[in-house]
Formats: sequence, C-alpha cells, structure tokens
Amino acid sequence: MAERISIGVEGTVELSPERVFRYLEYGGSSPSKPVLEKLKVLTPMARKLAQSRTLSRICGVGEAVNLHKNDLPPPIQGASFLAFGLITVGHAIEEETERLRETGRLLDSMILDALGSAAVSELGERLAYRLFDWAHERDLNASRAFEPGSGASHWPLENQRLIFVNLHAEEIGVRLTSHLLMRPTKTLSFLMGIGSEVEQAFTPFSCQGCKRLDCPYRYEEKHALAKALRTPSKALRRGKEQ
Ligand code: SF4
Repeated sequence: MAERISIGVEGTVELSPERVFRYLEYGGSSPSKPVLEKLKVLTPMARKLAQSRTLSRICGVGEAVNLHKNDLPPPIQGASFLAFGLITVGHAIEEETERLRETGRLLDSMILDALGSAAVSELGERLAYRLFDWAHERDLNASRAFEPGSGASHWPLENQRLIFVNLHAEEIGVRLTSHLLMRPTKTLSFLMGIGSEVEQAFTPFSCQGCKRLDCPYRYEEKHALAKALRTPSKALRRGKEQ
C-alpha cells in the first residue's frame, strides 16, 4: 500500500511572530523595536518570495526502498507504515538573503534568513499534522518526525539517502548533494513511523531529548491539551481556531 499526500498549503505561509522570534533567537522574549520594525517590512517580502512546495509518501514498511529495519530510529522499528516528508520554500529567499548580506544590509539579511527558516518549519509542521490525521483516521499512532542529523532525532545524517531514495525530490526542485546537504538550503526532510505499536507523539517537532541545552534555537512545545489527548493534531488546530 502506498499513498501520496498533497497538503495544498503551497504559497501561503503565516509566519507568526512567535515562530519567527524562535529563529531570531528570541525564544522567550520580544526583539528590540528596530528589529520589530524591520520584521513588519520583511515578513510580507518573505511571504512573497516563499516558493512553498511539499512532498510526502506513506508506504508499508515492506514497500520502502533500500530499507534495513535496524536503520530506523528505535522508537519506530515496530511501525507498520512509514511516512516520508520533504518541504522547501525554494531558492528565492536564500538568494535575497545573500544579496542583502553582500550589500551590507546585515540585519535585514539575518531577519530574512530567520523568516525563511520559520516558513519551512511552519510548512513542515502542517504536513506532519496532516500525517498525524492520516494515522488517527485509521486508529493508528504516529511518531515524532525524525530529521536526519537533528540532535533530538538521534538519527544519523546518512539517513537522508533513505528519505531521498523513497521520494521523487526533483518534483519539488530539491536535491541532495554528495555531502548530504539539501538544496535549496531552506528545505526540511523527515521520516515518521505509523502503527499501533508506535507511541503517539505529543507534537511532531520538538527539541526534547537533544543534549544541546544551550542551543539558541531550542524549542519544546508545552501544550497541556496536546498532552492530554491522543489526537493532538485535531486538538491543537481546534485550539488555534478559537
Ligand atoms: S536544541 Fe538545537 S541542536 Fe538540538 S534539536 Fe533543537 S535546534 Fe537542533
């Protein structure tokens, strides 16, 4: 069984201040007034420049290409299905970031770079919650999203190859270099395990478990409702809609 999910959110990124502050390293505080003023101008620019595209594929574990079960992250070695995800916002944001840097507008460049990271994170989260829904509609659990090389995933970077061999990344203009770097740079890849033997994750993305406690980008969502309910995606969206 294989299924492709198109989440249809291309071209629309919200870029909430809370998310953008995280990538500006203002996790728990508000940026200075000059930064906030620049954000007012650069946020609409980032929305315009974002060429958002997503790709995902769900397949039975036995159908995954080049998969050695021991290579899976331990929490999903008993999964029945694997969901591969790839998200990009294209080249335009990074090109403009570079142009700003080269012309000496370093603060603008730094803020636009953070907006690009926030955009890809927002789209990745939306795709991951759609995958949560796919699992819950079948009365199955879904794991966190494991990003190759991420400190919280404990899943080596080499596993980018597994993700890319199981997705047609070229369909959304993404490629993997020989050094396992994704191009465009504002791109996110992940693997999620789905099945009754998988423990339901509270949220798909979290820094929980990463040893880098001093990391400026550290983020752990604390949402009591999500922790209390088995279907966090629906609960979280209801919370946001209110
Ligand atoms: S704490 Fe920093 S290094 Fe660790 S997973 Fe989070 S963002 Fe990555």
